[in-house]
Amino acid sequence: MSYVDEVLERVIAKNPAEPEFHQAVKEVLNSLRPVIEANEEVYRKEALLERLTEPDRQFKFRVPWVDDKGQVQVNTGYRVQFNNSIGPYKGGLRLHPSVNLGIIKFLGFEQIFKNSLTGLPIGGGKGGSDFDPKGKSDREIMAFCQSFMTELCKYIGADTDVPAGDIGTGAREIGYMFGQFKRIRGTYEGVLTGKGLTYGGSLARTEATGYGLLYFTEEMLKSNGSDIKGKTVCVSGSGNVAIYATEKAQQLGAKVVTVSDSTGWVYDPEGIDVALLKEVKEVKRARLTEYAAARPSAQYHEGRGVWTIKCDIALPCATQNELLLEDAKALVANGCMAVAEGANMPTTLEATEYLQQNKVLFAPGKAANAGGVATSALEMSQNSERLSWTFEEVDSKLKNIMVNIFHNLDDAAKRYGKEGDYVAGANIAGFEKVANAMMAQGVC
Ligand code: NDP
Repeated sequence: MSYVDEVLERVIAKNPAEPEFHQAVKEVLNSLRPVIEANEEVYRKEALLERLTEPDRQFKFRVPWVDDKGQVQVNTGYRVQFNNSIGPYKGGLRLHPSVNLGIIKFLGFEQIFKNSLTGLPIGGGKGGSDFDPKGKSDREIMAFCQSFMTELCKYIGADTDVPAGDIGTGAREIGYMFGQFKRIRGTYEGVLTGKGLTYGGSLARTEATGYGLLYFTEEMLKSNGSDIKGKTVCVSGSGNVAIYATEKAQQLGAKVVTVSDSTGWVYDPEGIDVALLKEVKEVKRARLTEYAAARPSAQYHEGRGVWTIKCDIALPCATQNELLLEDAKALVANGCMAVAEGANMPTTLEATEYLQQNKVLFAPGKAANAGGVATSALEMSQNSERLSWTFEEVDSKLKNIMVNIFHNLDDAAKRYGKEGDYVAGANIAGFEKVANAMMAQGVC
């Protein structure tokens, strides 16, 4: 049996009932086969893949808090510190009822390669809780965040592990967590990113994942003889990534015609009104029905259906496994030329394969959405030198990083005879740097 297959079997046996983690490891290791096979003897002797697929450590803890009725609630908190061979652990905190250890491990594993691809010195980690922020009062959110940080603060620090936002964790939650960290540890350090601008946050961090997705997509299209201007784009999600992907796509001359949330979606043939979307989602924290009610050109539909709309470019920006094989078939039938993942692993393995077989340009999330974590690393740099850079400075560094990521993975794919396979290219380019660092640091 090949080394890759052996390790895949081992991961599945050792981590039962964690399908998302299995899926992420399978996707990465399968596309690394040419690299592993070329160095099989050394990697096997060093147990490199076994070490890479086993987190450095993982924490699971109780998060008790009191709701507005005086009732004590109990959630579970997680932090997985996956790999710090190229820098301190870095990765977001997801607050969503679906969160479990397997989901955090899949996200932490992906984060290793994504962070490596940015070219910046950051390792891979991820955390979160099954807490559902929806419908909670500000006081309840604060009570949860303080309790969560009371435990988490034992394991993180500016030079060890620097969490950030993710689904359900935005500026408000980061603020409450930062306040509690400071209170308990008594140090003012860049222990979290995505902070508010008045206390160490970076300009352009809010926009970074969505903007970065578009800088990457623009470069991918350019390098394939096309252009984003004038294209019709379908976006899913209506959170941080989706909003700023929509904004940048429109700034670059494309027309975004859909957005969605977990209950329904909007088709707006005249183009999404970003100011209205921000008002509904960022200010009122309301459902998309409010967007449709305020916008005569928009049609609201219950359930899912974004990918049935004809488009040139699809940008899944909501959550994992939201673009299925049937959606990939609909996109191909409608002439879609590119899919770039704003979310983490939004496309299933079968859907990815179908898109690639049908010559759709496919940009995996670990490359295309790396602008968020890259700008978090820029926030860490600013915190370390106790300076703040301008929006333009951060945005131009972000653009350079995204353009470099595209060319690094494009080159890696070509080196291994997989031209145009950006999934393989991203995994290979991300892996090479981490593998070299791990080998150089000995058995640890
Ligand atoms: P937000 O919480 O701001 O938004 C998430 C959006 O996705 C919301 O519109 C939400 O709808 C929708 N959504 C969430 N879960 C589901 C579900 N199960 N089914 C359908 N829709 C769902 O999160 P972000 O925009 O920050 O993150 C989106 C994705 O991007 C995630 O995969 C995240 O890991 C990834 N990502 C985020 C980065 C960042 O900087 N924020 C960086 C890199 C990746 P509703 O409001 O109804 O829940």
